[in-house]
Amino acid sequence: MKTLIKLEEKKDVFIVNNIYEFLNPENVYIPLNNSNFNKKNYFYKDTFMADFVISVSGFFGGEEEMLLNGKRCQTIKINNDFKENKEFKKVKPKVKNIADLMQVINSNHLETLKEKIKALPQIDHLIVSCFDEEIYEMNEFMCLVENYKEILKLIDDLKKILSLENSILAIKNTNVKGIKKVKSISGVYPDLKVMLLPDKYLMSIPDNLTDYLNIPMENTLILTTNEIYELNEVLKGKSISEKYITISGNALKKSLIIKTKIGVSLKEIIQNFLKITTNDYEVYENGYLQGVKIKDLNKVVITHKTRCIVINKKEAKEQTECINCGACMKICPVYINVKKCYRQKLMSHRCLGCGLCDYICPANLALKEIVKGGNDEETND
Ligand code: SF4
Ligand code: SF4
Repeated sequence: MKTLIKLEEKKDVFIVNNIYEFLNPENVYIPLNNSNFNKKNYFYKDTFMADFVISVSGFFGGEEEMLLNGKRCQTIKINNDFKENKEFKKVKPKVKNIADLMQVINSNHLETLKEKIKALPQIDHLIVSCFDEEIYEMNEFMCLVENYKEILKLIDDLKKILSLENSILAIKNTNVKGIKKVKSISGVYPDLKVMLLPDKYLMSIPDNLTDYLNIPMENTLILTTNEIYELNEVLKGKSISEKYITISGNALKKSLIIKTKIGVSLKEIIQNFLKITTNDYEVYENGYLQGVKIKDLNKVVITHKTRCIVINKKEAKEQTECINCGACMKICPVYINVKKCYRQKLMSHRCLGCGLCDYICPANLALKEIVKGGNDEETND
């Protein structure tokens, strides 16, 4: 494994260490896809339409092209009538074994969790990671701080349900708030191992976590704090219609972590909570390094996959010729010959899209774009 590094963050980005809530939006958007619906239909909160959760109840408010997960998509707008959905009252499921657990996961469309469990022939170890994927992202961090009691209890329950050898909670050693809270009740769960790991970029990647913890990758289920939180919600008989996102950047007066309804437009969140201080800004969805650049911020819809939005002042970065410094190859965590891929416009299936090559390149070249999405497969490095 390559030595992980701590990335320098912009000094003028300060993320407020509290959760803000936006649970009563005016409208939500759901993908139209091939859904059958009548414009006079009433849309019920906590139901699904083409695997997308309807997070508020209300009537059809029109069709609109929006951006979902960075892609243009025709959507249905639902005008929130702020009514609770009594018709679809859920029952609290009883979970005694993995078959019961899978049934709950399937019926609640917890797709990532389902894929992770299905990919393992057997599960002996569970690692719950409180590491966020990107810089300027604090969802896992705050999810632990807000829900530590329920998270620890469910990890302990999963150890019994899945007959695990090991259950580990991996916390960033800089999450002082979370560490204090976990330590205050960890005595109740003597089987749970609480491990403090260095605050390094890409620690959230499964190989890096298992290497640091010296646990074999095979037979290890790695979940995030948010996945445990969501599983806990559905085990309580609730639906996953809300999520944590971080909205940050130096073009904002302040950066926030927000618990919001899924399907809300970013525009409505900004109108209610944030102030953009310049007209010359750039927006990234799901990360400054790994995410996609967004042209029209007003069209972005928060989906179940949205983790963070970065709104930064535009920087005038002048691109120059490659100076052959080799820094991109030195930093690449999967040992790709980035310089060669860039020159020959080759992509590599091994690229993680981590953005470290772009971050380090003194010539400001857009290397990731080529290596992750170039024309041909690289042959050898
Ligand atoms: S984006 Fe891809 S090529 Fe660039 S450093 Fe990350 S893994 Fe390597
Ligand atoms: S880091 Fe940039 S300038 Fe240096 S070798 Fe790689 S592509 Fe060339």
